[in-house]
Amino acid sequence: MSLSPKNLRAIRADRVLEISWPDDLTAQIPFRYLRGRCPCAGCVNEFTSERMVDVHDIPESIDLEAAQLIGNYALKITWSDRHDTGLYTWEHLSDLCRTREWESA
Ligand SMILES: [Zn+2]
Repeated sequence: MSLSPKNLRAIRADRVLEISWPDDLTAQIPFRYLRGRCPCAGCVNEFTSERMVDVHDIPESIDLEAAQLIGNYALKITWSDRHDTGLYTWEHLSDLCRTREWESA
């Protein structure tokens, strides 16, 4: 099975990134949750895997300013707090869509 999303769409009015997968799973990930799950070295300690920036550190008003495809494996997101070092791989996004943690938070 290909891990690439079928469709990606930022819905600014709802502050969610909608992602559809080849197995017909569709999820709308809230911007704030997605920003709090940034996988970059500034947000997660590379050596201990400890998360330094978490969802509760992110303001409700966070916005997605730009999203850029990196090759065919990841999405680079520029956030309204100027943070743009996170590469959200398809694998990472797929995990987020399948665990849907934001619904139980
Ligand atoms: Zn980060």
